[in-house]
Amino acid sequence: MNAKPEPLVEAVETPLPFLPFTRPTIDEATIAGVADVLRSGWITSGPNVKAFEARLSAYCGGRPVRAFNSGTCTMEIALRIAGIGERSADEVVTTPLTWVSTANIVLDVGARPVFADIDPVTRNIDLDRVEEIVGGDTRAIIPVDLTGLPVDRTRLYALARERDLRIVEDAAQSFGSSWDGKPIGSTGDFVSFSFHANKNITTIEGGCLVMNDEAEAKLAEQYRLQGVVRSGHDGMDVERVGGKYNLTDVAARVGLGQLPHLASFTAKRRALARRYFDGFDAAFLADIDCRLPVADFTRSNWHMFQVILPEAHLAKRSMKRADVMAALADRGIGTGVHYPALHLFALYRRLGWKEGDFPHAEYAGRNTLTLPLFP
Ligand SMILES: *Cc1c(COP(=O)(O)O)cnc(C)c1O
Repeated sequence: MNAKPEPLVEAVETPLPFLPFTRPTIDEATIAGVADVLRSGWITSGPNVKAFEARLSAYCGGRPVRAFNSGTCTMEIALRIAGIGERSADEVVTTPLTWVSTANIVLDVGARPVFADIDPVTRNIDLDRVEEIVGGDTRAIIPVDLTGLPVDRTRLYALARERDLRIVEDAAQSFGSSWDGKPIGSTGDFVSFSFHANKNITTIEGGCLVMNDEAEAKLAEQYRLQGVVRSGHDGMDVERVGGKYNLTDVAARVGLGQLPHLASFTAKRRALARRYFDGFDAAFLADIDCRLPVADFTRSNWHMFQVILPEAHLAKRSMKRADVMAALADRGIGTGVHYPALHLFALYRRLGWKEGDFPHAEYAGRNTLTLPLFP
């Protein structure tokens, strides 16, 4: 009997590196620029924040823009500038399928969120439902451009004019998207962007608010930093209660290094989204009711690529979304969930919402899966 020969070389399986669902893209010039800021002696809000705001304003057609340390606080501040929440009866209409901050900030200013279910195709707020629920206490609408696919701005602003409502666009995911050929942010009422690490353009944490005039921008500056108003060389007064929401110069320098890449990042994301559509067997997916996103290659910045998994088809195999995620992770593929329907979180259940209130958002919330997509 022959002895099994010793292998000359251990068979080594070289696994592919793990593919996360997203990852920031930061170039070496930006990293060097951050080091320069750190050495400069001025690391918190200063010249880089001013420069970042000026670039953002130029991108938004010259509208006033101020930078903050999150996207969340910019929406809260927009509501405060508009005086929403000063009466406890004030209502703000928004979508239940979003990052929870969209609704949390409504509670934060003392107003009441009112949800309209999503359109199951776009997964954005259904403007037909919005039209039905706008009432005498409705003061504002917060539309969310989920995955970067814009809510219909033409219809939204027609409704706002007709019913005398303020709009706070939660455009956290749609920096680089457009409507009618114009960048999101360059038109409309308040527009809020986030520069969180996962967004298309990042400052690690951060955000900005696009406003209508300098009077609103002055108020935003007060809400951003303890209500402080400075004058002359040594004058200081406090006009109102403000927070601690200023962006650092280190973060602003990251943002300045990101902005020149916006067009190429968006083009790359669109090309990758196309590859998903080209690779999927659409007829098979339709047959098992696995839903693809809207194939939009002109307006959306493709912040995320999400499929709605086939709940019934998986159930026949005793599988759930978590099993699909685990199976993909075993193959080195990262996925994410953006987002569970927020009216079913404990806080919102305590306020009276329950299962069955928004069936389209609930189905999407249970079955949505974010696949890898980043430049
Ligand atoms: C990221 C995000 C926010 C919040 O932004 P932060 O900068 O993390 O505060 C709000 N709404 C949506 C839809 C988001 O994706």
